[in-house]
Amino acid sequence: MSGIIKVNPLDNVATASKEEGLKEGDHLEEIRITVHEDIPFGQKILLEDVKKGSPIIRYGEIIGYAAETKEKGQYVDEHSIYIDKIDHLNENNIPEFEDQYRFKDVEKIEERYFYGYRNPDGSVGTRNLLAINTTVQCSEGFVNIAVEKVEKDLLPKYKNVDGVAAINHLYGCGVAINAKNSEIPQRTISNIALNPNFGGRGIAVCLGCEKFKSEDAFNGIEAESILVMQDYHGMEEMLDAFLEKSEAVLQKLNKRKREKIPVSELRIGLQCGGSDAFSGMTANPAIGYAADLFIQQGASVIFSEVTEVRDGVHLLLKRIRDKSIREKMIQEMRWYDNYLEQAEVDRAANPSPGNKAGGLATIIDKAMGSIAKSGTSEIVDVLSPGEQIRKKGLTFAATPASDFVCGTQQLASGINIMVFSTGRGTTYNLKEVPVIKVASNNVLYKKWKDLIDINAGEIADHSKTIEEVGNELFEYIIKVASGEDTRADHYRLYNQLAVFNPAPIT
Ligand code: CA
Repeated sequence: MSGIIKVNPLDNVATASKEEGLKEGDHLEEIRITVHEDIPFGQKILLEDVKKGSPIIRYGEIIGYAAETKEKGQYVDEHSIYIDKIDHLNENNIPEFEDQYRFKDVEKIEERYFYGYRNPDGSVGTRNLLAINTTVQCSEGFVNIAVEKVEKDLLPKYKNVDGVAAINHLYGCGVAINAKNSEIPQRTISNIALNPNFGGRGIAVCLGCEKFKSEDAFNGIEAESILVMQDYHGMEEMLDAFLEKSEAVLQKLNKRKREKIPVSELRIGLQCGGSDAFSGMTANPAIGYAADLFIQQGASVIFSEVTEVRDGVHLLLKRIRDKSIREKMIQEMRWYDNYLEQAEVDRAANPSPGNKAGGLATIIDKAMGSIAKSGTSEIVDVLSPGEQIRKKGLTFAATPASDFVCGTQQLASGINIMVFSTGRGTTYNLKEVPVIKVASNNVLYKKWKDLIDINAGEIADHSKTIEEVGNELFEYIIKVASGEDTRADHYRLYNQLAVFNPAPIT
C-alpha cells in the first residue's frame, strides 16, 4: 500500500510511511480514503470513522480510545487517544501456552561459529577487557585517573587486551545497606564483575570505610587484585599500587587468544531507545527474527524493559510453558506496578516527547512495538533485576526501560553483546560489551550513516523483507562478536553505567 503501513488486518489506524508524509486532499486509491489534513511521517491516519471512547487498534491490539469522534482520513495524534489505568494481573487468569516459534517445524541450519575468548567458568567473552570494579562511588575520581594511566603507559604493551573498563557507579555508601530492595544494586555490581568479557580476572578498588565490603561484593577476586585506597600514603603510592595490580592481570589477559566457538555461547541482550512508530514494524521485528535464528542455534537471548512490555504481557504469558516461570513474570510486573504506584507515576510519562514526535501515541502503542524484539520463541526463564542468565533460549530480564539502567542490568545478567534499535536516533554504546545499533527508518539512517550499523528502514519501503534484514543482522552479530568494531566503537563513543537502585539512600 503506497504511503501508509497497516500492521494488522484488524487495525483502524495506519502509519504515514513516506518521508514527505501525507498531504491534505491526497487520495489513497487502494483503501478509498481521502486524507483530511496533513499527516507527518510516522504519524497515524484513521482508516474508519470512530466515535468518542471507541478503541483505536494497531498491531491488532487496543492501543487506546478515541478522545473525540473522528472520521476516516483524519490525523490521530497523541492528543486524540487516551488510555485506561493499567489492568491488574491475575494468576488465575493466565492464558494457555501456545508454541508460536516460527522455526518449530523447520530443520536447524548448519551450526555457526564465532571467534571468542573461553573463560575458566565456561562462559565466553566477545572482548578481552581489564575490568576495574569498585565497591563505592568515592573511588571514581581516582579510578578515572588511574585508568587513563593504564591506557597510556601499560595497554600498548598488551596487544591482545582490547581495553580497560572502569565500573563506576553511585552505590556503596550513604545507603541503607540491608534495606528492602538493596539486594538489587548489590547483586548488580557483584554480577557485573563476573561478566564474560572480563575473563574472570578483574581488579577491585575500594575506599576502605564503605558499607558495601569487597568480600561481599567481589568474593571471586583474589586478594592481591584488590586495592583499598585508605591503606596507602597518598596519590602517588596509590597509583603505583594500581599500576602494579593492573599489570599482573594484564599479563594474564594478554595470553588469551580468540578461538572458534559455537554461537550457542553467545548471550545477546536486546533493547531499544528513542523508538518511533517504525520500531515495531521494521527494526524490532528484524531483531526478533535474528533472535529466533540464534535461539535455533542454542544461544541465550534476553529482552527487558518492564514498562515497555507491561501492556503486552498477556501476549508474552502465552509463550511461557512452565507455571512457575509465568508466576515469576507476573510477580516482576507487579513489583514494578507497585514501584510506579508508590511514586504516583502517570502512565503517560512514557512515551517520551521524541517517541510521540516519532508517531508513538501511547505506552501501549510503544509496548506492542517493543515486544516484537523478542521474536516468537518460548520464554524459558524470567530474571529479577541483575540476576545472571541461567538458561539457553529466550529469557525475560526484568529491568527499567531507561537505556542506561537496562544496559547496565543486562551487563550484570552476563550478556556478551547487545543489539539496540532506535528510530529517533541515539548513540548509546558501552565499553563493556559491543552495542549494535539498528535504525528503524531510512530518514535516520541517511542522517546517521556513520553511527548506525544496520538499516531496517528498507523494510518500510518494501525494498527488503524482515527476514532479509534479520539475516543481515544475524551475520553482523557474528562478526562483531568475533572482534569487529561497531560504528560507535570506531569513535570510542561510550556511555556510563547506571546501576538500578530502588533502595533508600541515607
Ligand atoms: Ca530502553
